[in-house]
Amino acid sequence: MKQLDRSDSAIGLDLHHFAAELYPICRSITGDGIRRTLAAIQNRIPLQISEVPSGTPVFDWTVPKEWNVRDAFIKAPDGQRIVDLQKCSLHVVNYSTPVHATMPLEALKPHLYTLPECPDWIPYRTSYYREDWGFCLSHNQLLALPQGEYEVCIDSTLEDGHLTYGEHYLAGRSAEEVLISCHACHPSLANDNLSGIAVATFLAEQMSRSDLRYSYRFLFIPGTIGAITWLARNQNTTGRIRHGLVLTCIGDAGGFHYKRSRRGNAEIDRAAAHVLGHCGEPSEILDFSPYGYDERQYCSPGFDLPVGCLMRSVWECFPEYHTSADNLSFIKPQQLAGSLRVCKSILDVLENNRSYRNQNPLCEPQLGRRGLYRSVEGGASRAEMMARLWVLNLSDGKHSLLDIAERSGMAFPLLSDAAELLQRGGLLSVEPNEGVGEECSNGVFETGKPNAHIEGVVLSRSGGVRQ
Ligand SMILES: [Zn+2]
Repeated sequence: MKQLDRSDSAIGLDLHHFAAELYPICRSITGDGIRRTLAAIQNRIPLQISEVPSGTPVFDWTVPKEWNVRDAFIKAPDGQRIVDLQKCSLHVVNYSTPVHATMPLEALKPHLYTLPECPDWIPYRTSYYREDWGFCLSHNQLLALPQGEYEVCIDSTLEDGHLTYGEHYLAGRSAEEVLISCHACHPSLANDNLSGIAVATFLAEQMSRSDLRYSYRFLFIPGTIGAITWLARNQNTTGRIRHGLVLTCIGDAGGFHYKRSRRGNAEIDRAAAHVLGHCGEPSEILDFSPYGYDERQYCSPGFDLPVGCLMRSVWECFPEYHTSADNLSFIKPQQLAGSLRVCKSILDVLENNRSYRNQNPLCEPQLGRRGLYRSVEGGASRAEMMARLWVLNLSDGKHSLLDIAERSGMAFPLLSDAAELLQRGGLLSVEPNEGVGEECSNGVFETGKPNAHIEGVVLSRSGGVRQ
């Protein structure tokens, strides 16, 4: 990996501190845990909070009852609290119904969940859609439990309330949007949950300091039901989403994985593959599959949005996944900072990808006369000169800078800088139909393209998405 500079190191520590701040909270798909998490994000970036009532139909699903837990413990026959929610939020099965009873060990055992293959780790279990209660503990702790009467208590409520999610919107020059989504519903799990939240929050902070071509929408939502709820409530405006990324599991020491959108060749898929190919870390591109995180909902056939998923280690493929070993030492400041840098680089490609036309296409223009050629005295490096030649050669109105990056094997920023220089020198012009739509004065969204088609999604004046 490229040597981190001082600011990257500092950013990595800040990202890790933010994850550590959120780590103890007992989150779920509803309730005060996710509200506290959103409040902590709100201390860094403005968030619009939505509260959707339990029972609200959202496509084939229904917003569930709200779950809150204040305390949960098991007391051993000697009166000691041997399992305690206050020590680890994974100890209670998420969405457990309330219970307060005394029972022998054999009656308690069907409610206890462990990982015999990793006997020191506590598993993460949920029971969102089947009313039940249970505790999670290490297998070694289970093996050490003596016979006798156990007091079990889960002081929880499961009743009509709300599903809560947060949105951060950054207005760009265009109304077309880049969607950045991460789930915020897992309790004390660092890579699968907090790494995505931390990187998305810092990315939003960084992007807010730029003059933006696209508008950006950052979603902090409960997994699955949150994405379904958001899509159900925003069905008429999803046509604005030009590119999207789900961020998760991006803080561990593994190499990068990018899972393509359902379309497979969307600009986001190509931008992510290009950036990962040049990031200096191992990376792998995965094809779309209808399993994983919330890209499953964004890429469902009725939406088919160009949304991919950026990870380091892939869900279910690392042993620490959904266990207490996915903790704050499993995520690293350096990897968090590297992930933030990769995300920013992907967005930089989207922001700067456009087609140009060479204004002097009959043989090469004389670059030396314009001070743009490599000279014996130095000046432009060989890479800079090659970038200029590639951009000039392929800027025939048919190739975008990303096309040129793929064809030349050169890093996008080098080509983008070359294009800017050549444009300033009068050798390139931006293609007139290039770029994204702009918000019109009457607020009606139109695209820069005459037929109003954006990568297969049809925008209408009512904003509906053709399904
Ligand atoms: Zn998960």
